[in-house]
Amino acid sequence: MFVVNFKYKKNIFVIFGVFTVMLRKQDIKILTELLDLKDVKVISHRLHDGIGMILQTESTKSYSTCPRCGIKSHRLHQNHRYIVKDLPFGEKPVFLEINRRQFKCEECKKPFSEKLDFVSKKRTYTKRLAHNIIQEVVENDIHSVADKGIVTTEEIERMLKDASEKLSDSKPDFIKRLGIDEIALVKGKGNYCAVLIDLDTSKLITILNARTQEVVKKTLMGWGTEVLELS
Ligand SMILES: [Zn+2]
Repeated sequence: MFVVNFKYKKNIFVIFGVFTVMLRKQDIKILTELLDLKDVKVISHRLHDGIGMILQTESTKSYSTCPRCGIKSHRLHQNHRYIVKDLPFGEKPVFLEINRRQFKCEECKKPFSEKLDFVSKKRTYTKRLAHNIIQEVVENDIHSVADKGIVTTEEIERMLKDASEKLSDSKPDFIKRLGIDEIALVKGKGNYCAVLIDLDTSKLITILNARTQEVVKKTLMGWGTEVLELS
C-alpha cells in the first residue's frame, strides 16, 4: 500500500513538474513580449507583496562594442546586476533586475561596461519610464506624480535635468500653437524650469532651466525665423 501510494505521488509530482516547467517557459515568453524591449529577454519573474513585480532580464546579444576601439567583444569580464524601475503593469510597480555586463576588449585589453539602449548609466529607471513621468509632470506637478509612489522627487528632478540637457538643441520644424508651462522644482525654493510644448501634438519640445522671459526669448530666437514665421 505504501509503495503504491508512493508511486502515485511520484507520478503526480513528475507530471506536475513538467507542467510547471512548461508553464514557466510560456510565462517567460509572454513576459518578454509584454516587456517589449529590444534585445532583452526575461529570464525569471517574481511578485512581491507590497513591492511589485520583479523581472530578471538578460541581453539577447552575446557581445558588446568597445567605446574606445569600436570593436565587438565577446569576452565577458564580469556581470553587474542591479535593479531599475520600469513602467508599471496596471497598478503594479515593475522593477527590472538588469545585467550591465563588463566585457574585455580584445584590441585595447581594457574592460568596458556595455551600453544598454533602454537605461542610461547610473540611472535607477528606464528611459521610457523617465519619458512617461516627464509627460505626467508637464500635465500635473512633481508632487502629485511622486505621490503615486513609483518615483521619488529626486528622481523626477534628475529626469528633468537629463531631458533639458538632451533636448537643449532640439527645435520644432513647424509649430502652430506653443504652450509655455512651468514646473516648480523641489530643491531650492523659487526654483522653476520652463517647459515648451507643442499644444497641437502635446509633444514636449524642450525644458529650460529657468522660466525668465529672457531665457524663453533667447530659446525662441534660437529656433530661427523659419520656425517662427511659420508659426
Ligand atoms: Zn577597445
